[in-house]
Amino acid sequence: MTDWPEDHEGPGHKILVIVAHPDDAEFMCAASVARWTSEGKEVVYALVTSGDKGTSDPSVVPSELAALREKEQQEVCRILGVKQVEFLRYEDGMVQNTLELRKDIVRLIRKHKPSAVITQNPTVRWSGHYINHPDHRNTGDATLDAVFPSARDVHMFPELALNEGLEAHIVEHVYLGARDDIADVYFDVTDTVETKIRALKAHASQMRFTPVNGTEEPSKEEREFGERLTGWLKDRGSQKGIPYAESFKYFYLG
Ligand SMILES: [Zn+2]
Repeated sequence: MTDWPEDHEGPGHKILVIVAHPDDAEFMCAASVARWTSEGKEVVYALVTSGDKGTSDPSVVPSELAALREKEQQEVCRILGVKQVEFLRYEDGMVQNTLELRKDIVRLIRKHKPSAVITQNPTVRWSGHYINHPDHRNTGDATLDAVFPSARDVHMFPELALNEGLEAHIVEHVYLGARDDIADVYFDVTDTVETKIRALKAHASQMRFTPVNGTEEPSKEEREFGERLTGWLKDRGSQKGIPYAESFKYFYLG
């Protein structure tokens, strides 16, 4: 394992990953998560929404889709060795950086006391020809605002301490999913690339690969998906002399 920079001390013993939708964490950091759980670190997921709008089929009932996607996310967490997943159940597509959401995230931070929080980069408005989903930006914003300074400061949301016994907590390490010029930490995920691909495929309601009739063979579409993902990780790694990497923007708050 060779991370970049080599003196980066890593996320510590307990990591809380906070994202907008089921499968966001898998695209952003599943290979790192699988590596950390294999090293004995504890990882907890928090999903702001359960992805109830993630379909183009008008006959699908959003609440039923949310239930299915929560089940898929739990199976994915089993694959990755993630200990627990918290569902905040905000409405998909409607996430705003409100004080209510900030408080819900502060509650999770004070409950789990993570050494590190990983979330989505709120400054990404677009990337290439891809417009970033507003839920991604707003989840990243609400999470950063919760980490700093709300979770840390005793006089922020004092009712959490008073009524729920949840004391202020300092998150030492913060990572935003990032690449290219924005990224400043690269984790070597050479041993867990395949686990990331397996985890993403387990979001079956979103992947919809055409099956090859009568065989166990992955379809051309499914093979290409795996190759594309592997290519992304290889490309990131090649920027820092690592075979396969996931990359992040890093803040130390300890
Ligand atoms: Zn998403």
